[in-house]
Amino acid sequence: EQFLKGLPKVELHAHLNGSLGIKSLSDLGERLYGTSSEDFLKLCARFSQFEKDMDACFEKFAFVHELTSTRDGLRFATELAVRDFAEDNVQYVELRTTPKANENYSRRDYVQTVIDAIKEASETYPEITVKLLPSINRAEPVDVAEETVSLAVELAQAYPNLILGIDLSGNPGKGRFSDFAPILAQARDKGLKLAIHCAEIENPSEVKEMLQFGMSRCGHGTFLTPEDIEQLKQRSIAIECCLTSNVKSGTVPSLEEHHLKRIMEANAPKVICTDDSGVFDTTLTKEFLIAAKTFGLTRQQCIDLTLEAVHHSFASEQEQIQMADRVGNYAVILA
Ligand code: IMP
Repeated sequence: EQFLKGLPKVELHAHLNGSLGIKSLSDLGERLYGTSSEDFLKLCARFSQFEKDMDACFEKFAFVHELTSTRDGLRFATELAVRDFAEDNVQYVELRTTPKANENYSRRDYVQTVIDAIKEASETYPEITVKLLPSINRAEPVDVAEETVSLAVELAQAYPNLILGIDLSGNPGKGRFSDFAPILAQARDKGLKLAIHCAEIENPSEVKEMLQFGMSRCGHGTFLTPEDIEQLKQRSIAIECCLTSNVKSGTVPSLEEHHLKRIMEANAPKVICTDDSGVFDTTLTKEFLIAAKTFGLTRQQCIDLTLEAVHHSFASEQEQIQMADRVGNYAVILA
């Protein structure tokens, strides 16, 4: 475990509002309300109440969204999420988040607040590099996705080293991929990478459409057929595997049956990720530990998986070389 904790890890699938653990939520509550506030205690009591299934998980997000519904809440939350990844020795994280609008902020304010918080956090935690992927929530209307993409395209010009792509996520039982494909194509034409939640639930016709459309990385990939996996392998598209998340949200029956096994056997590209470390009470270290225990991975395989994550990140070539060097140096010291 110490070895995995110290490994300079790379996190490629992490939703901002899902990445706040109980400790961070409590720190956030303290900053926003003061610990003894009744409002906050009520909110905390609700966090641990939900059942373990997909819809219940989505309810948990609603709870966190209440805490981040002000600019201050969002700013602190971003900083705390970066802190938690840095404390877990994550050297690079691509944070995703869905721009939201309410009485306190517009979608533009939302993204700008997150950007400013990332910049501040990067000074406090210089050992971690943070990138941002604005998310399209497929449960929301298409015009919201249009706004998100135009914001992402515009802000990627202002912050080319920070905003690298677009994520398509949200409750996979809602919305239709074909409705979002034209907007995603626009983002891709403007140079943004696409990380798409694909085959998170069983929906073969949608998976077909998504694979035809193409993507830079595939989120979850739980219900991919062996032929789909082979196709991703041929096209060097990595599958983002989130073990605890999939088991806790009920899309995979047990760790032993996780598709990471099939993907490894097919020698297809994969990365180990947390998805929502707060909601699923995990860390990237724990995910590696679980993968190592369940599938008998050696230290070298964990190092190789980290290097695979470096390679499939949306970071520049120069950044990838630096990340790989850090992993290499760590491996040499411990050898
Ligand atoms: P946010 O975008 O920062 O608010 O992070 C939470 C949001 O990410 C959720 O409301 C979902 O839209 C999305 N999300 C988190 N985990 C998953 C997942 O496993 N599948 C699909 N969408 C997800």
